[in-house]
Amino acid sequence: MTDKKLIIAIDGHSSCGKSTFAKAIAARMNYIYIDSGAMYRAVTLACMEQGIVRNGAVDEKLLPHVIETADINFRKKEGSAQTDTFLNGINVEERIRSIDVASNVSLVSKSTRVREKMVALQRRMGRNRGIVMDGRDIGTVVFPGADIKIFMTAEAGIRAQRRYRELADKNLKVSLEEIRNNIIARDKMDETRMESPLLKAPDAFVLDNSYMTPEQQMKWFDDLLSEMNL
Ligand code: C5P
Repeated sequence: MTDKKLIIAIDGHSSCGKSTFAKAIAARMNYIYIDSGAMYRAVTLACMEQGIVRNGAVDEKLLPHVIETADINFRKKEGSAQTDTFLNGINVEERIRSIDVASNVSLVSKSTRVREKMVALQRRMGRNRGIVMDGRDIGTVVFPGADIKIFMTAEAGIRAQRRYRELADKNLKVSLEEIRNNIIARDKMDETRMESPLLKAPDAFVLDNSYMTPEQQMKWFDDLLSEMNL
């Protein structure tokens, strides 16, 4: 494996296991892992708390203040390599995974102001390289010069099942249908927005993991590293 510190960008559809895969790669390479979706979810929670997302619209007048005052960072969980997301000093890891936040996040993420702040933060997090970041625009906008770009996808029904199990394990009660509808709606909104839409970078490698185990995905990544001579 290379000694050079790489930037690895992983983009793709909602709930296709990007963060699990990205975390595994980061652990393997001894890199930092950044979940950019958690950052958009945290801003969305801030907007919801301030009451500026209503009836499918964001109050653009009040948005700058919320963005400026939202302090988002990640802190290591005690005794674990995992991190939790903090908003203004409060651990919001669980709340940002709720279906309420998931229902509003694509709306808030469409805003140019929100994206500008998030992209600047993400680039700062990657300034020392040695980073794996997952999201929707990492290989296209945040790090267009990334050393490795991966575009992940999986069948929508399979993605819904996986998310359902994940939430059920955390005792969060949401129906499979609600999750499936949310996944499809988010994909559509993410792919069709004007600002930084979700799209595959021309130089990204596609990974459809519908029928792959985590081990098979890691083998795919190892093969890619060898093929790229990295
Ligand atoms: O990755 P996750 O599903 O947690 O992302 C939640 C939402 O945040 C996405 O559906 C998308 O609207 C937004 N997002 C984004 N750009 C990113 C990461 C996430 O717009 N880089």
